This record gives sequence, C-alpha cells and structure tokens, in this order.
Amino acid sequence: MVVDTLLPTTPLKTQDYCLYYRQGSCKACVSLCPTRALTMEYLDKKKCYNQLLKTYENYSELGLCEACGKCATGPCALSIPKGVTSNK
Ligand code: SF4
Ligand code: SF4
Repeated sequence: MVVDTLLPTTPLKTQDYCLYYRQGSCKACVSLCPTRALTMEYLDKKKCYNQLLKTYENYSELGLCEACGKCATGPCALSIPKGVTSNK
C-alpha cells in the first residue's frame, strides 16, 4: 500500500520485554528446545535446522514442513509477558 500523507510517529520501545533480560527469570524458550540448539549463550543454527529436517522426515507426507518453533511458545509468544509493563 502506498499513501501520500503525514502519519504520526510512534516512539521506539526501549525496554526489553524478555523476562530473562528484565529479571533473570523464565528461560522457557531454552527449556522448550528439544535439541538444546538454543542455550542462554547462543543459538546453534545447524542443530536447529537438523531438527527441522527431522520433522520433515517424520511428516513428509504433508509436503514441505521443515518446522519446529517450540522455542517460540513461551510466555512472550503472543503478548508482552504478565507483570511486564510496556513503555507506550
Ligand atoms: S520465553 Fe520469552 S520471556 Fe521467556 S526467556 Fe525466552 S524470550 Fe524471554
Ligand atoms: S526451532 Fe526448535 S530446534 Fe530450533 S531453536 Fe527453536 S525449539 Fe530449538
């Protein structure tokens, strides 16, 4: 979509909403990772991708489905975690 009008700006969010970075808690993303590709220090992309390929092998009848995403199902998945206030 292309528009020719002035739009109001929204301030950049400067807070981190991750519970770990805010208060050292949670780590659900790390504990949900079935391969330990995700740690508190790094993401091993090769390990992660191997897990996606494993899913594809197990469900190849569905077509291309290199998928996992368990790390993205924690308390921050769909909204700002409870107890964290936004800086709107
Ligand atoms: S699940 Fe979300 S809130 Fe929890 S540590 Fe991971 S990124 Fe942070
Ligand atoms: S997509 Fe799966 S394997 Fe990759 S980091 Fe997330 S939970 Fe781990």
